[in-house]
Amino acid sequence: MRTAPTILHLDMDAFFASVEQASKPSLRGKAVVVGGLGPRGVVATASYEARIFGVHSAMPTAQARRLAPHAAYLVPRFGLYRSVSEQVMGLLRELSPLVEPLSLDEAFVDLEAGGSAWDGESARLAGSKLRADIRAATGLTGSVGLAASKMLAKIASEQAKPDGLVLVEPGTEQALLGPMPVRTLPGVGPATGDHLRRAGITTVEELAEAGEDELVRLLGKAHGHALSAMALARDQRPVVAERETKSVSVEDTYDVDIHDRVRVGIEVQRLADRCVGRLRGAGLSGRTIVLKVRRYDFSTLTRSETLRGPTDDPAVVREAAARLLEAVDTTGGVRLLGVGVTGLADYTQEDLFAQAAGERAAGDPVAEAVPEAVAEQPETTERLWRAGQDVRHAEHGYGWVQGSGLGRVTVRFETPQSDPGRVRTFRGDDPDLEPADPLPLVPGPPERDCAASDGAQPSSVPASLPKSWSESLGGEATSRP
Ligand SMILES: [Mg+2]
Repeated sequence: MRTAPTILHLDMDAFFASVEQASKPSLRGKAVVVGGLGPRGVVATASYEARIFGVHSAMPTAQARRLAPHAAYLVPRFGLYRSVSEQVMGLLRELSPLVEPLSLDEAFVDLEAGGSAWDGESARLAGSKLRADIRAATGLTGSVGLAASKMLAKIASEQAKPDGLVLVEPGTEQALLGPMPVRTLPGVGPATGDHLRRAGITTVEELAEAGEDELVRLLGKAHGHALSAMALARDQRPVVAERETKSVSVEDTYDVDIHDRVRVGIEVQRLADRCVGRLRGAGLSGRTIVLKVRRYDFSTLTRSETLRGPTDDPAVVREAAARLLEAVDTTGGVRLLGVGVTGLADYTQEDLFAQAAGERAAGDPVAEAVPEAVAEQPETTERLWRAGQDVRHAEHGYGWVQGSGLGRVTVRFETPQSDPGRVRTFRGDDPDLEPADPLPLVPGPPERDCAASDGAQPSSVPASLPKSWSESLGGEATSRP
């Protein structure tokens, strides 16, 4: 293990909600919740103002509405989040070739491998400059953790939140970890946490005191061994730039051909579950489900289906695999079956939204998506106006949908560089009103040539939409499910 705190973990602060507040001046300093707005939608990100009411990620949106009824509830704009994420990841890659993104707003960076830091002092400088550069390029804040291992760098960035930097001095790791709950350690989920608590172990210190033999007895060899090392702050995991796994799949060959159609179906379900087990084990999710069938005559078919968003939900994978099987003739018997998932992504907040997006497509009334709606009635217009969506009015210019229902849409006219704007209501089918692309948070082309590390932001430049920006957002299918 290295001795200098040169592994950096960056985590943008309340990323989606912060982007929304930067875009919409009237929401700055206010409770903002971004997520699925349908009946089974979940919160992707809550602003710090909303967290005061107890709202947090992965909470059902319905529950969030009860806790914070006056918060702004907005659909995610992934196209914009992705553009901002690319800017941030670009800044990280200037520090080192070893950048390991965990999601749109989170990544590890090996500063030493990039020659941008070699000891505590140079690491702290690199971290501070990075935070300033991110602020200048995007207008947003991110928190930085620095340590000699990935585990501690991530814990440090959590402690730094919001808008801070924490460096764990080498040699102080165990003292820092000791009083923390066991759940702080990677690989300790609710089940393991419960198991340990029943054995009287609640803190990392108690975990370290229990010793490796006891942990192996409690949790099995692999897990017990790994956890005992983590408890002693020993984490050798390297920062990995490229993900090697491109797909996860499982298959079974049968000694005797299966002829029974029901049995084939059961086998496919079983394989789907195993495949999801592996997917989750690797902390991944994927968009494309693949079914492989080798028949009695050795002819092999593969069929695939691409979902709206990445999933690691066994029910979703099972259903997709069953649909694919329906289209395959197995009457002669099958000798091999396989289920795979490709189009892999890290498990991110986006996955939470994928679920909500599916629900919306299944027909949740627009009226329910917005607090301003007077009643739930079928939409009379063809057009779907969703809370938070970007629009442009021929006369009033750029704005965003604040609410809709009963054939009306309420728009707040403001832009990232304007003062908080006014609200106007239109008919849902007003020909002067049209969907628009998001405006950049910081004026000017999104290229990161801004050496403005002095923190000066050119906020007086009028809002404009560079062509390159709007084009780069044009092909975002995921943002418009
Ligand atoms: Mg974050």
